[in-house]
Amino acid sequence: MRMRSVDTVVVGLGVMGASTLGVLASRGLNPLGLEQYWAGHPFGSSHGESRIIRQAYYEHPDYVPLVQEAWQAWRALERSSGWPLLTETGGLMVGRPDSELIRGALRSAIQHHLPHERLEASALMRRFPAFRVDPDDVGVYEPRAGVLIAERATEALVAEACRQGAAVQLGQRVRQVAPEGGGVVVHTDQGSIRARCAVVAAGPWTRELLPEWNVPLVVERQAVTWLRAQEPRWFHPDRFPVYMREEASGDTFYGFPSLDAATVKLARHHGGATTTPDRVARHVGEDDLAVARRFAARTFPGLLPTVAQSTVCLYTDTPDRHFAVGPLSPDVPQIVVLAGFSGHGFKFGPAIGRIAADLLATPGSGPALFRPDRFIGA
Ligand SMILES: Cc1cc2nc3c(=O)[nH]c(=O)nc-3n(C[C@H](O)[C@H](O)[C@H](O)COP(=O)(O)OP(=O)(O)OC[C@H]3O[C@@H](n4cnc5c(N)ncnc54)[C@H](O)[C@@H]3O)c2cc1C
Repeated sequence: MRMRSVDTVVVGLGVMGASTLGVLASRGLNPLGLEQYWAGHPFGSSHGESRIIRQAYYEHPDYVPLVQEAWQAWRALERSSGWPLLTETGGLMVGRPDSELIRGALRSAIQHHLPHERLEASALMRRFPAFRVDPDDVGVYEPRAGVLIAERATEALVAEACRQGAAVQLGQRVRQVAPEGGGVVVHTDQGSIRARCAVVAAGPWTRELLPEWNVPLVVERQAVTWLRAQEPRWFHPDRFPVYMREEASGDTFYGFPSLDAATVKLARHHGGATTTPDRVARHVGEDDLAVARRFAARTFPGLLPTVAQSTVCLYTDTPDRHFAVGPLSPDVPQIVVLAGFSGHGFKFGPAIGRIAADLLATPGSGPALFRPDRFIGA
């Protein structure tokens, strides 16, 4: 049988693969996207109702231009798809003045001239009456932050990519992606495909698919909980921002305004058990709920301990929690790997897609912060 041939294969259609497919399609490359399940499935990292997008980026100032690029791209996708995807609610970081969250958010805001305000605890609680914080906490508030409607956004990315010439095959598991004579051969459950190049965006499955890749990824289980609000109007997106709170213990939590005028989604950032996508406990247990309830009781007197909904999602972490975006190895530039988004990648989807397409066109390009070879010999 003759092997099928395409220009570029994208493996995985979570937010990163879907974004890359769209950028490649917009450049006229007619890419083929392969996904083992279906767009929007709940087994990886991109499912669920919402994701935070924020600009005063505490993790590193180099992310700021990328989130601004992605913000524009999300707005453009809203216009082309006709679907609302991004609600601007403002964003609030809460912690001690010397916490990583506060110091980092201020550093990015100042370096990139982002509009922001620093609030003392009493001013913070007057402005956002749903919050109860400690007297020595402070807040950094920025107006240009909000909520991305996650599953709809991923669906819109795939639809837009197809409109621009991409092809998609769902229910197709890739077994191996191997370099061959300057090109790539992709072996799937249903046959093999020859391509000029490939992008692997396999999320928590990356290690399993590319064991030879030199990035020590760790998959982490994350439980997310929706609690009922006593006074839903306090949590309305018009008056309640997306937020993160770093507590004195070092634990960080985050959450959203109420999108259904009844319940509020919140979760701990990191601190989950190490796992794999095939072994992970998908059920949210009493221990998970207790963590969420204790945080809510400390921070939001207006939330009830009643759990309305819960879900499990996976983080794929690098050791320094910065992304790993680059070639499979320096001598295989035709295979680009996008992984290690460490629980904060969603908002950047379209910018990562652009970086992936650039890496295929111009090997060696891309932000230094994300270079996968930083772990070699580390
Ligand atoms: C609870 C939670 C909250 C988060 N909150 C935020 C937030 O507020 N803001 C933010 O910016 N980010 C957030 N993130 C992080 C963000 O969602 C992830 O960084 C992002 O979704 C990663 O996308 P991905 O495409 O790399 O991975 P995935 O979404 O896991 O996609 C990988 C895809 O590849 C497919 N695949 C894998 N192997 C194969 C194979 N062999 N063959 C075919 N297909 C394959 C999988 O089925 C999957 O669809 C959060 C994540 C979680 C879990």
